[in-house]
Amino acid sequence: MTIAVVATGGTISSHLTDAGWTSLDGRTLVDEVADRFAGIEVTVTDVATGPSSNLTVDDMLAIAHRVRDLLAEGVDGVVVLHGTDTMELTAFVTQLVLGTEAGRAPVVFTGSMRVHSHPRPDGPRNIADAVAVASNRAAAGRQVLVCLEGAIHAADRVQKCDATSVDAFTSSPFAPIGSVVDGIVTFTEERPSPCAPVLMFAPDVPLLTCYPGMAPADVATALADRRGAVLEVFGDLNVPVPLWGPIHEAWNAGCLVVLASRPFTHTARGEGLDLLGAVGAGGLTAQKARLATMAALGSTTSRDDAVAVLHRHRQVFDSHDRSST
Ligand code: ASP
Repeated sequence: MTIAVVATGGTISSHLTDAGWTSLDGRTLVDEVADRFAGIEVTVTDVATGPSSNLTVDDMLAIAHRVRDLLAEGVDGVVVLHGTDTMELTAFVTQLVLGTEAGRAPVVFTGSMRVHSHPRPDGPRNIADAVAVASNRAAAGRQVLVCLEGAIHAADRVQKCDATSVDAFTSSPFAPIGSVVDGIVTFTEERPSPCAPVLMFAPDVPLLTCYPGMAPADVATALADRRGAVLEVFGDLNVPVPLWGPIHEAWNAGCLVVLASRPFTHTARGEGLDLLGAVGAGGLTAQKARLATMAALGSTTSRDDAVAVLHRHRQVFDSHDRSST
Protein backbone atom coordinates (compact mmCIF):
# COMPACT_ATOMS: atom_id res chain seq x y z
CA MET A 1 0.00 0.00 0.00
CA THR A 2 1.26 3.49 -0.91
CA ILE A 3 0.16 6.70 0.79
CA ALA A 4 1.30 10.01 -0.73
CA VAL A 5 1.95 12.90 1.65
CA VAL A 6 1.78 16.43 0.24
CA ALA A 7 3.42 18.97 2.58
CA THR A 8 2.33 22.62 2.28
CA GLY A 9 3.87 24.34 5.33
CA GLY A 10 1.92 25.56 8.37
CA THR A 11 2.61 25.33 12.08
CA ILE A 12 3.14 21.58 11.80
CA SER A 13 6.43 22.28 9.99
CA SER A 14 7.61 25.19 12.20
CA HIS A 15 10.60 24.52 14.44
CA LEU A 16 12.43 26.95 16.71
CA THR A 17 16.18 26.45 17.09
CA ASP A 18 18.85 28.60 18.76
CA ALA A 19 19.37 30.14 15.34
CA GLY A 20 15.66 31.07 14.95
CA TRP A 21 12.65 29.61 13.13
CA THR A 22 13.11 26.94 10.49
CA SER A 23 10.64 25.03 8.38
CA LEU A 24 10.92 21.23 8.36
CA ASP A 25 10.24 19.35 5.17
CA GLY A 26 7.53 16.73 4.85
CA ARG A 27 9.93 13.78 4.80
CA THR A 28 11.40 14.77 8.18
CA LEU A 29 7.90 15.03 9.69
CA VAL A 30 6.77 11.70 8.26
CA ASP A 31 9.92 9.77 9.17
CA GLU A 32 9.54 10.73 12.84
CA VAL A 33 6.34 8.68 13.10
CA ALA A 34 7.19 6.00 10.52
CA ASP A 35 7.14 3.28 13.21
CA ARG A 36 3.37 3.89 13.59
CA PHE A 37 2.60 2.77 10.04
CA ALA A 38 4.88 -0.17 9.41
CA GLY A 39 4.19 -1.88 6.08
CA ILE A 40 2.85 1.26 4.40
CA GLU A 41 5.08 2.96 1.85
CA VAL A 42 4.82 6.73 2.26
CA THR A 43 5.98 9.05 -0.53
CA VAL A 44 6.41 12.77 0.23
CA THR A 45 6.23 15.91 -1.94
CA ASP A 46 6.75 19.45 -0.63
CA VAL A 47 4.66 21.95 -2.57
CA ALA A 48 4.55 25.03 -0.31
CA THR A 49 5.94 26.50 2.90
CA GLY A 50 4.88 29.18 5.36
CA PRO A 51 1.57 30.20 6.94
CA SER A 52 -1.57 29.03 5.20
CA SER A 53 -3.13 32.48 5.55
CA ASN A 54 -0.85 33.52 2.66
CA LEU A 55 -2.36 31.01 0.23
CA THR A 56 -4.41 32.34 -2.69
CA VAL A 57 -7.23 30.38 -4.30
CA ASP A 58 -4.80 29.62 -7.14
CA ASP A 59 -2.37 28.17 -4.57
CA MET A 60 -5.21 26.06 -3.14
CA LEU A 61 -6.09 24.88 -6.64
CA ALA A 62 -2.45 23.91 -7.24
CA ILE A 63 -2.57 21.75 -4.09
CA ALA A 64 -5.89 20.23 -5.20
CA HIS A 65 -4.50 19.47 -8.65
CA ARG A 66 -1.44 17.81 -7.11
CA VAL A 67 -3.78 15.59 -5.09
CA ARG A 68 -5.80 14.79 -8.22
CA ASP A 69 -2.60 13.84 -10.09
CA LEU A 70 -1.46 11.54 -7.27
CA LEU A 71 -4.83 9.79 -7.25
CA ALA A 72 -4.59 9.39 -11.04
CA GLU A 73 -1.16 7.77 -10.55
CA GLY A 74 -2.89 5.13 -8.43
CA VAL A 75 -1.80 5.84 -4.85
CA ASP A 76 -3.98 4.23 -2.19
CA GLY A 77 -4.53 7.46 -0.27
CA VAL A 78 -3.31 11.04 0.07
CA VAL A 79 -2.48 13.01 3.22
CA VAL A 80 -2.08 16.79 2.94
CA LEU A 81 -0.11 18.54 5.69
CA HIS A 82 -1.51 22.08 5.86
CA GLY A 83 -1.70 25.15 8.09
CA THR A 84 -4.86 25.13 10.15
CA ASP A 85 -5.92 28.72 9.40
CA THR A 86 -7.19 27.93 5.90
CA MET A 87 -7.16 24.13 5.97
CA GLU A 88 -10.95 23.90 5.69
CA LEU A 89 -10.82 26.06 2.54
CA THR A 90 -8.11 24.12 0.69
CA ALA A 91 -9.85 20.90 1.73
CA PHE A 92 -13.12 22.24 0.29
CA VAL A 93 -11.42 23.42 -2.93
CA THR A 94 -9.99 19.91 -3.23
CA GLN A 95 -13.46 18.47 -2.65
CA LEU A 96 -14.83 20.66 -5.47
CA VAL A 97 -12.00 19.61 -7.80
CA LEU A 98 -12.32 15.88 -7.03
CA GLY A 99 -16.06 15.58 -6.44
CA THR A 100 -17.21 12.46 -4.64
CA GLU A 101 -16.87 9.15 -6.42
CA ALA A 102 -17.60 5.64 -5.21
CA GLY A 103 -14.33 3.92 -4.36
CA ARG A 104 -12.16 7.04 -4.73
CA ALA A 105 -9.05 6.66 -2.55
CA PRO A 106 -9.16 8.67 0.70
CA VAL A 107 -7.83 12.24 0.84
CA VAL A 108 -7.12 13.48 4.36
CA PHE A 109 -5.94 16.93 5.47
CA THR A 110 -4.16 17.42 8.77
CA GLY A 111 -1.91 19.90 10.53
CA SER A 112 -1.11 20.99 14.05
CA MET A 113 -1.83 23.78 16.46
CA ARG A 114 1.52 23.52 18.22
CA VAL A 115 4.86 24.02 16.54
CA HIS A 116 7.13 21.05 16.02
CA SER A 117 9.57 22.26 18.73
CA HIS A 118 6.77 22.47 21.37
CA PRO A 119 7.47 20.13 24.34
CA ARG A 120 4.20 18.29 23.57
CA PRO A 121 3.60 18.77 19.85
CA ASP A 122 0.29 17.59 18.36
CA GLY A 123 1.68 17.22 14.84
CA PRO A 124 3.16 13.69 15.13
CA ARG A 125 -0.08 12.17 16.45
CA ASN A 126 -2.10 13.99 13.78
CA ILE A 127 0.18 12.73 10.98
CA ALA A 128 -0.01 9.14 12.26
CA ASP A 129 -3.82 9.41 12.56
CA ALA A 130 -4.18 10.91 9.07
CA VAL A 131 -2.08 8.11 7.53
CA ALA A 132 -4.23 5.56 9.40
CA VAL A 133 -7.39 7.14 7.95
CA ALA A 134 -5.93 7.50 4.43
CA SER A 135 -4.96 3.82 4.41
CA ASN A 136 -8.35 2.61 5.66
CA ARG A 137 -10.82 1.38 3.02
CA ALA A 138 -13.72 2.71 5.10
CA ALA A 139 -12.48 6.19 4.17
CA ALA A 140 -12.69 5.51 0.41
CA GLY A 141 -15.59 6.98 -1.59
CA ARG A 142 -16.10 9.76 0.92
CA GLN A 143 -15.64 13.48 0.74
CA VAL A 144 -12.22 15.01 1.31
CA LEU A 145 -11.58 14.63 5.05
CA VAL A 146 -9.95 16.74 7.75
CA CYS A 147 -8.45 14.82 10.69
CA LEU A 148 -7.09 16.43 13.87
CA GLU A 149 -7.17 15.44 17.53
CA GLY A 150 -8.65 12.06 16.65
CA ALA A 151 -11.76 13.56 15.00
CA ILE A 152 -12.59 13.03 11.32
CA HIS A 153 -14.57 15.82 9.66
CA ALA A 154 -16.03 16.23 6.17
CA ALA A 155 -14.60 19.14 4.15
CA ASP A 156 -17.96 20.82 3.56
CA ARG A 157 -18.78 21.02 7.29
CA VAL A 158 -15.54 21.51 9.13
CA GLN A 159 -14.50 24.90 10.53
CA LYS A 160 -11.65 26.11 12.67
CA CYS A 161 -13.39 27.34 15.81
CA ASP A 162 -10.51 28.00 18.23
CA ALA A 163 -7.26 29.74 17.34
CA THR A 164 -5.23 28.35 20.26
CA SER A 165 -6.59 24.98 21.47
CA VAL A 166 -5.32 21.70 19.99
CA ASP A 167 -9.01 20.78 19.68
CA ALA A 168 -9.46 23.56 17.14
CA PHE A 169 -11.98 22.15 14.64
CA THR A 170 -15.70 21.55 14.72
CA SER A 171 -18.44 20.29 12.40
CA SER A 172 -21.06 22.06 14.52
CA PRO A 173 -24.03 21.72 14.67
CA PHE A 174 -23.14 18.16 13.65
CA ALA A 175 -20.72 15.72 15.23
CA PRO A 176 -17.56 14.74 13.34
CA ILE A 177 -18.26 11.95 10.85
CA GLY A 178 -15.74 9.63 12.45
CA SER A 179 -12.83 9.12 14.79
CA VAL A 180 -9.41 7.53 14.93
CA VAL A 181 -8.05 6.14 18.20
CA ASP A 182 -4.71 4.32 18.30
CA GLY A 183 -4.96 3.66 14.57
CA ILE A 184 -8.51 2.30 14.76
CA VAL A 185 -10.73 4.21 12.34
CA THR A 186 -14.49 4.42 12.86
CA PHE A 187 -17.07 6.24 10.73
CA THR A 188 -20.48 7.09 12.17
CA GLU A 189 -22.01 8.29 8.89
CA GLU A 190 -22.79 6.59 5.61
CA ARG A 191 -20.89 7.55 2.48
CA PRO A 192 -22.46 10.47 0.59
CA SER A 193 -23.92 10.11 -2.91
CA PRO A 194 -21.50 10.63 -5.79
CA CYS A 195 -21.03 14.24 -6.89
CA ALA A 196 -19.35 15.37 -10.12
CA PRO A 197 -16.15 17.43 -9.93
CA VAL A 198 -15.82 21.00 -11.22
CA LEU A 199 -13.02 21.87 -13.59
CA MET A 200 -12.78 25.67 -13.70
CA PHE A 201 -13.07 28.46 -11.13
CA ALA A 202 -14.12 32.05 -11.92
CA PRO A 203 -11.90 34.45 -9.98
CA ASP A 204 -14.12 37.50 -9.59
CA VAL A 205 -16.49 36.70 -6.69
CA PRO A 206 -16.52 39.16 -3.77
CA LEU A 207 -17.64 38.24 -0.25
CA LEU A 208 -19.43 40.89 1.82
CA THR A 209 -20.36 40.60 5.47
CA CYS A 210 -23.62 42.45 6.17
CA TYR A 211 -23.68 44.36 9.44
CA PRO A 212 -26.34 46.33 11.30
CA GLY A 213 -26.89 49.65 9.54
CA MET A 214 -24.91 48.72 6.40
CA ALA A 215 -25.42 51.32 3.66
CA PRO A 216 -27.35 50.07 0.60
CA ALA A 217 -24.99 52.04 -1.64
CA ASP A 218 -22.04 49.93 -0.41
CA VAL A 219 -23.85 46.75 -1.43
CA ALA A 220 -24.84 48.27 -4.79
CA THR A 221 -21.21 49.25 -5.49
CA ALA A 222 -19.85 45.83 -4.51
CA LEU A 223 -22.36 43.95 -6.67
CA ALA A 224 -22.18 46.22 -9.75
CA ASP A 225 -21.11 44.38 -12.92
CA ARG A 226 -20.42 41.12 -11.08
CA ARG A 227 -21.33 37.66 -12.38
CA GLY A 228 -21.62 36.50 -8.79
CA ALA A 229 -21.23 37.59 -5.18
CA VAL A 230 -21.67 36.11 -1.70
CA LEU A 231 -23.27 38.04 1.15
CA GLU A 232 -23.02 36.82 4.70
CA VAL A 233 -26.35 37.74 6.26
CA PHE A 234 -28.24 36.89 9.45
CA GLY A 235 -29.96 33.80 10.89
CA ASP A 236 -31.96 31.84 8.34
CA LEU A 237 -30.70 34.12 5.53
CA ASN A 238 -32.43 37.24 6.81
CA VAL A 239 -31.39 40.39 4.95
CA PRO A 240 -31.86 43.91 6.40
CA VAL A 241 -34.75 45.53 4.51
CA PRO A 242 -32.68 48.51 3.21
CA LEU A 243 -30.43 46.03 1.38
CA TRP A 244 -33.26 44.33 -0.52
CA GLY A 245 -33.20 46.96 -3.29
CA PRO A 246 -29.55 46.64 -4.37
CA ILE A 247 -29.69 42.84 -4.13
CA HIS A 248 -32.83 42.73 -6.29
CA GLU A 249 -31.25 45.05 -8.85
CA ALA A 250 -28.03 43.03 -9.00
CA TRP A 251 -29.99 39.79 -9.54
CA ASN A 252 -32.05 41.41 -12.30
CA ALA A 253 -28.81 42.55 -13.93
CA GLY A 254 -27.66 38.91 -14.07
CA CYS A 255 -25.58 38.57 -10.89
CA LEU A 256 -25.71 35.26 -9.02
CA VAL A 257 -26.33 36.56 -5.49
CA VAL A 258 -25.61 33.86 -2.91
CA LEU A 259 -26.59 34.31 0.73
CA ALA A 260 -24.77 32.49 3.52
CA SER A 261 -25.10 32.81 7.26
CA ARG A 262 -22.78 32.54 10.24
CA PRO A 263 -25.14 30.16 12.09
CA PHE A 264 -25.84 26.93 10.24
CA THR A 265 -28.84 26.98 7.93
CA HIS A 266 -29.33 24.58 5.05
CA THR A 267 -31.79 26.91 3.26
CA ALA A 268 -30.97 26.98 -0.45
CA ARG A 269 -34.16 28.08 -2.25
CA GLY A 270 -37.41 29.61 -1.11
CA GLU A 271 -40.22 31.88 -2.15
CA GLY A 272 -38.78 34.80 -0.21
CA LEU A 273 -35.36 34.30 -1.77
CA ASP A 274 -36.90 34.04 -5.24
CA LEU A 275 -38.72 37.33 -4.71
CA LEU A 276 -35.58 38.99 -3.40
CA GLY A 277 -33.37 37.62 -6.16
CA ALA A 278 -30.89 35.39 -4.39
CA VAL A 279 -30.14 31.76 -3.56
CA GLY A 280 -28.95 30.29 -0.28
CA ALA A 281 -25.60 28.59 0.16
CA GLY A 282 -27.13 25.35 1.43
CA GLY A 283 -25.29 25.12 4.73
CA LEU A 284 -21.88 26.26 3.48
CA THR A 285 -20.06 28.95 5.43
CA ALA A 286 -19.68 32.26 3.61
CA GLN A 287 -16.02 31.49 2.84
CA LYS A 288 -16.89 28.11 1.36
CA ALA A 289 -19.94 29.55 -0.43
CA ARG A 290 -17.56 31.95 -2.20
CA LEU A 291 -15.39 29.04 -3.37
CA ALA A 292 -18.44 27.07 -4.51
CA THR A 293 -19.76 30.14 -6.36
CA MET A 294 -16.39 30.58 -8.10
CA ALA A 295 -16.56 26.91 -9.13
CA ALA A 296 -20.19 27.21 -10.23
CA LEU A 297 -19.56 30.30 -12.38
CA GLY A 298 -16.28 28.95 -13.77
CA SER A 299 -17.82 25.73 -15.00
CA THR A 300 -21.09 27.06 -16.50
CA THR A 301 -22.31 29.75 -18.85
CA SER A 302 -25.86 30.37 -17.55
CA ARG A 303 -26.94 31.42 -14.08
CA ASP A 304 -29.42 28.55 -13.82
CA ASP A 305 -26.65 26.05 -14.52
CA ALA A 306 -24.40 27.81 -12.02
CA VAL A 307 -27.10 27.53 -9.33
CA ALA A 308 -27.39 23.81 -10.09
CA VAL A 309 -23.62 23.33 -9.65
CA LEU A 310 -23.59 25.45 -6.48
CA HIS A 311 -26.37 23.42 -4.95
CA ARG A 312 -24.82 20.12 -5.98
CA HIS A 313 -21.99 21.05 -3.62
CA ARG A 314 -24.16 22.23 -0.73
CA GLN A 315 -23.46 20.73 2.66
CA VAL A 316 -24.21 17.01 2.76
CA PHE A 317 -26.23 15.86 5.75
CA ASP A 318 -29.22 13.75 6.55
CA SER A 319 -32.11 16.14 7.15
CA HIS A 320 -33.94 13.35 9.01
CA ASP A 321 -31.28 13.60 11.70
CA ARG A 322 -32.21 17.21 12.41
CA SER A 323 -35.34 17.81 14.39
CA SER A 324 -36.84 21.28 14.51
CA THR A 325 -37.83 22.62 17.89
N1 ASP B 1 -0.63 30.05 11.11
C1 ASP B 1 -0.72 28.68 10.91
C2 ASP B 1 -1.15 28.37 9.50
O1 ASP B 1 -2.32 28.27 9.20
C3 ASP B 1 -1.60 28.03 11.89
C4 ASP B 1 -1.43 26.56 11.86
O2 ASP B 1 -0.86 25.98 10.97
O3 ASP B 1 -1.89 25.93 12.83
O4 ASP B 1 -0.30 28.19 8.66
